[in-house]
Amino acid sequence: MAQRIQSPSSINTFKQCPRKYYYQYVLGLQKKVPSIHLSRGKIVHLTLEDFFKVDISNISPDYYEFELKVILHSLFNQKWQSFYEELRKIKLTPEQLDFYYEETVQMLNNWFSNFLRKLNPKVKELALQEAFSIMKPMTEVHFISPEFQVQGFIDAIHDIDGKVSLMDYKTSAKELITQEYKLQLAIYALLYEEQHGKKPDSVGIDFLKHKPHYLDVNSDLIAFAKNECRSIQEKTISEDIEDYPLNTSALCKYCDFYDICFKQRTIHEFDRTDPDDTRV
Ligand code: SF4
Repeated sequence: MAQRIQSPSSINTFKQCPRKYYYQYVLGLQKKVPSIHLSRGKIVHLTLEDFFKVDISNISPDYYEFELKVILHSLFNQKWQSFYEELRKIKLTPEQLDFYYEETVQMLNNWFSNFLRKLNPKVKELALQEAFSIMKPMTEVHFISPEFQVQGFIDAIHDIDGKVSLMDYKTSAKELITQEYKLQLAIYALLYEEQHGKKPDSVGIDFLKHKPHYLDVNSDLIAFAKNECRSIQEKTISEDIEDYPLNTSALCKYCDFYDICFKQRTIHEFDRTDPDDTRV
């Protein structure tokens, strides 16, 4: 059987609960309706991605802080509107939707303040366009490792003053690099090293409600990623459900497959994606 291309998300799913991995990645059962957190995450990612594509040649060096902020808000509002149908399916009350809208605006304002703290010193030395171009990351970069059968989409790759950092944006409330995040970042470092023949200097999570947190990239971090990638391939060769035990926990009540495990629905009542999409 061909190997499945894994991702930080699939590996973390397996580590949380092998049965959940089986439903999602072996059978390809579709998740239920989108959650506000997932939808909002997509909106924020798209907003920041487009923010760095903006042509700033017409922006006044005297008012750039104000003008860039207006652009950021305008991009966010466009994305929020374009997600109208998806947000509607989540069935929030208008008050709840307003709350998440306002919270997301605050999150982006916080991100923007952090961004300006890095941009402003550059603007003192260089023309605005040049300073912005230095701060501009490569966004949504897709890497795939044939050797380790893993892929990842890196939100932002910064190369500033000769230091490369790979960043992932998170909208989570806590600013803590958990084991799951550490694995995700380690895999990004591995993918980058394979592609570029050298390690990035750091990897990190940009907690949009707070501030970025970084990990230095060293051989231990890369070895951690390699071990996890090899391990998941060995553990997911089987297509037998019995090889994917349930790991019940307090998280079950948030799980898309709760109804199957707790016997109220059968797998036939779920829509499927093609699990072969993830294979080579
Ligand atoms: S409900 Fe619990 S046991 Fe069942 S797949 Fe989800 S996490 Fe695993």
